Parts: sequence; C-alpha cells; structure tokens
Amino acid sequence: MTIHLLSDQLASQIAAGEVVERPSSVVKELVENGIDAGATTINIDVRQGGRESIQIADNGHGIGAEEIETAFLRHATSKLQTVEDLNAIRTLGFRGEALAAIAAVSQVTIVSRATEEPSGTRLLLEGGLLQDRETVGAPQGTVIAVENLFFNVPARLKFLKSAATEKRLIDEFVTRYALAYPQIRFRLTHNGRITFQSSGSGQVQDVLVAIYGPEIARQLLEIRDLRLEAKSDDPALHSPLSNPINVTGFVGPPGVHFANRGQIMLFVNGRWIKDTQLTYAVIQAYHTLLPSGRYPMGLIFISLPPKNVDVNVHPTKTEVRFRQGKKPFGTVQRAVRQTLVADGPIRQMSAWGLGSNAPSSSGWMGSLNQEAFVSGEGEQTDLALGWMDGEGGGETATSASSTLLSSSGQAGSQQNSNIDADDSKLPIMRVVGQVGATYIITEGPEGLFLIDQQAAHQRVLHEQLHGQWTGDGIITQQLSTGTAVTLSAAQTKLLSQFEAAVAGVGLEVEAFGPNTFMVRAVPKLAASCDPARLLLAIVEKLEQSKGVVEEAGLVTAVCQTVALRAGQSLTQTRMQQLIHNLEKCVDPFTDPQGKPTFIYLSVAQLAREFGRI
Ligand code: ADP
Ligand code: MG
Repeated sequence: MTIHLLSDQLASQIAAGEVVERPSSVVKELVENGIDAGATTINIDVRQGGRESIQIADNGHGIGAEEIETAFLRHATSKLQTVEDLNAIRTLGFRGEALAAIAAVSQVTIVSRATEEPSGTRLLLEGGLLQDRETVGAPQGTVIAVENLFFNVPARLKFLKSAATEKRLIDEFVTRYALAYPQIRFRLTHNGRITFQSSGSGQVQDVLVAIYGPEIARQLLEIRDLRLEAKSDDPALHSPLSNPINVTGFVGPPGVHFANRGQIMLFVNGRWIKDTQLTYAVIQAYHTLLPSGRYPMGLIFISLPPKNVDVNVHPTKTEVRFRQGKKPFGTVQRAVRQTLVADGPIRQMSAWGLGSNAPSSSGWMGSLNQEAFVSGEGEQTDLALGWMDGEGGGETATSASSTLLSSSGQAGSQQNSNIDADDSKLPIMRVVGQVGATYIITEGPEGLFLIDQQAAHQRVLHEQLHGQWTGDGIITQQLSTGTAVTLSAAQTKLLSQFEAAVAGVGLEVEAFGPNTFMVRAVPKLAASCDPARLLLAIVEKLEQSKGVVEEAGLVTAVCQTVALRAGQSLTQTRMQQLIHNLEKCVDPFTDPQGKPTFIYLSVAQLAREFGRI
C-alpha cells in the first residue's frame, strides 16, 4: 500500500476515539461546554444509557450564527489562543476537539442562540458532515442532541456496555459536576424519568443531600482550611504565597465507608480528575480509622494557580501533572487528617429548608404554600420531587419540579444569617406515632422525620433554660415540702464550695444536719422531676468537673436530668407539644451535646429507596 494522507473524515474518526470513548464521555464534554459557557441550568436527557440519544441543554452564552459551523471543526476553540494561554487555563475545555469528535461518530442536532443575537441557528450533522442549516427562534443557550452514537464505528459500538452500566457512568459524571458547581442547577433524566437533580443553591451540602441522602450527608465533615489554623512547623503553611495550594471539600467520618475507592472524588480548579496518588493520600489520612478493605468518602477540591498544574496530559483532560511534585499529596493528606481528628459533624444542612431566607414570614411552610408542589410535563408529573424556587419561572431548560430539597435559589447566606424569632427552622409537623417508646415519627410537608425524643427534649429544655439563665435568671419554683438528700463527706464539701453556682441554676439547697441537705426550690422547668435526683445529678456534674465549674455546664446537666428518656411512652398530646417546641428552637438539629435530634427522609428519597425514580 502506498503512503497517503487519510481522508479528513477518517482522520476525524480516529481522533474522535481518543475523546469519545463511550456515552458518558459525550455527557462529560457537553456538560463541560455548558459550564464554560456560564450556564446556570444544565439539563441532561439520556435514552438507553446514551446509546440511543443524549441531549444536553444549557442556558449559557450560546454560539453565534457566524461561528457555529467553525465550532465543529477539529482544533476550533474560543478558549485558547497562544501557547502561554495553556499556562493559565481556567476553562474546562481548551483543546477544541469535543464537538468535532462527537459529530464525527454520531448524528448531531444543535440549536444555539448567542446572548446578543435575535435568533438562533440549527445545524444537523451526520458523521461530521453538515446536512442542514436553518435560522430558528430559540431561547438563549445551546441544546445539543447526539443520536446513534458510533453508528459509523461498529467496532466501538460492540464494546459499549449495557445501558445500565452506561447509565451509571453518566450518573457519576453528572453528580461530580453538580458537586463541583453547586451554583448550577443540574437535572438528569434517563428515558424521561428524573434520576438526579440539584437545586443550584450554591451550597455543596444541598448536592450532597441529593446524592447521599440526608443521613450520610449530615455526618460529613467539612475540610478545614489548613492555612487558617496551621500549627505545623512547615513554614510553607503559613504563607499563602509560598504554598498556594488550597484544599476544601467534605470527607466522611470514619463510620461511613464503602467497598471501593469510587467515593473519593478529586477536583483540581473545578475539573474532576483521576489521580491514584491523591486518592491514596485521602485513604492514608484514614490510617487505622477504617476497617480493612473499606474506603472512605471524600470530596476534595484542590485549587492552585493554573500555572502550577498541567491539564494538557490526555485528550479526555481527566489527568493532570502537578508542577510542585509531592506537595499536593502532603497538603491533601494533612487537610483530611486534620479534619478527621478535629471536627464534628456538619450540624446544619441548609438543604433542610431553613426558613430564615424563605420568601414569606412563616418560613418553610410559607414558602411551600406559596410555591406549592408543582408537577412536571410528561412522565415526570408523578414525581413532584420538590417545589419551584422563587426565581425559576422563565428558564427554558428548567422543568417543573426544579429543586429537590432546597426551598430557595439564594441559599448562600443562610447558614450564617441571623435567625428571626418568627422564622421556624423546621416545618410544621404532624405526629404520626411513636416507635419503640423512643422515637417519634412525624410527617412534614415533603418528608418524614424520625425524632429522638430524648435528644429533642434536651434541645427544647436547653434553649428554654439557657434563655432564662442568660436573661433575667432561671425561674424557680418553691417546693411545698422540702426533700432531704444525704451526700458523702466529699460531696458535701463540693456542694458548699459551689453553692453559688448551684443556686445560679435555680436549685435552692439548705443544710439539714450532717451531710444532709434539703432541696427547697428547683427550676420551674424541672418541677416534674424528683428534686433529689436533680440534686444528685448536679453533684455528680460537680464531681466530674474537677474544680472548674461552669454554670452553663450545670444548666446542661439539669436539662439532661429533666429530659424524657428512651423507653418512655408518650401520649399524642405530649408528643405534639414536644414537636411544637422543637419547631420553635433556634437550633433544632442537635441536642446540646451535638447529637442529632432527628433523621429526615424526603419524599424524593423515599421514592428513590422504593425504586420509583
Ligand atoms: P473546547 O471546549 O475545547 O473549546 P469544543 O469542541 O468542546 O472545544 O467546543 C468548541 C467551541 O464551541 C468552544 O470553544 C466554544 O466556543 C463553543 N461551544 C461549544 N459548546 C458550547 C456551549 N454549550 N455554549 C457556548 N459555546 C459552546
Ligand atoms: Mg469543550
């Protein structure tokens, strides 16, 4: 055979093989284009695991009529001009290969309208060749439909896995990007059914809830910024300039582990990457903390100046080379380890509605009443996964049931915002019943709550009693008949020593013979409690505190003693009253020791668990 140049079409097909390996690669490239185009909404609709069709709609800046054909040429990009630009890449794309590659091995229809143009353009390409072009009315943004992938590359077609496997790979890509870009609202449908959506609230926590469910998401630990609290001897840590590697994200507590490394997700400057070394850095940080053969969950965002990382290693752009050698490894490992040893659970998930920024005065419920559950078009009608956010209305790419859990698109500030006393952080709930004389089941507007009665009651009492204590003082109740309590000599000494602190939390105690005391008054909130038990609990707390007694600690001890316990069966009225009080709490999510007061199961999660979506 003579040496000859390959036809352009064949060369494109061969090159395409490097970029488009399977349906999920198409999803990845098109989603990246949407992100690069500044989209706030990206909808991905897949049929038969992407083998039949993949459609990606974004509301980004679109492609101008003049340029749209050029976009499909190999090495055509708007993101790079000179070699130096490669050192400062801030976009996900830069090789100008994806559209050409995808078009070379499928049938593509694109409709795009650039921001500044009055109308859009529709192109039809088959095997990379232009078949049709017309001017059309279109919303701003881009919709690309890719059909019959690999129709002209039978060898590739043969290697595709089942629709279910391809679907899983697509799910992984979409959820990763939803995590890295929480400000973008993603929606993924398979064969017309929504399988994943994020709220676009800007809060990674919301996306974590949508992916892992509230139980796991609530336990995840936020990675601390090493530079803010560096105690290490490493001088580089103290200077942002000499070590400009920043690590943020979330890691699972040691109690949450998985059978493989798949839940360790790494991002460098917003780009999802595969890196065995860094994955190992995360695993190593859990050394001795996990059962053998189990792997942690980690969402690791690494940011560093683009010049310190080479992203142009492979056509799929999922590998990078760090110019600072081992440094990223050490930084990631330290950041994760430090988080594990130092932190407690994330206490407030903004995804739980948290009415403080809801559009109406009555918080969560109010926003729900206003926006109501909305039904989608077609097969999505029965899902009613959430409610429209306040600003959703006009966007083309948005279907009806737009957010999973979060009630608002502007959730950004809510975790730190001051809580208006009228705003309740929990929805109004209806008590369904009690399980095991320990947990109360309630129904909220879009889900189920399992409430630990002891933790919830401790929280309620704590806010009430602590409120009095920091205000005008604890309200007490005189006992008509005093209760005599006999203590040991050591306890007697301790009680006399801390008499003032004990009186400060509402316990009036009078000496009544050797080592015997009479309780004359108790906090009004503790009136139903046996006064002797209360005094003994306080004395025990004094014993534990080894000479450093804080009244606040005694307040907590009173609450622990007075609170309901596991195993106490409650009447409907009693439960309703407790739930009502919990709804009013400023921090209803944990008990005073930081343990959760409830587990929440959203309607969406129930639907997922039952295989409805
Ligand atoms: P790259 O992303 O590497 O530049 P692509 O082949 O993916 O290469 O895209 C080529 C060009 O087409 C991009 O540089 C961009 O200008 C334009 N483009 C592609 N997709 C979109 C989109 N969804 N919205 C706006 N412009 C797009
Ligand atoms: Mg691209």
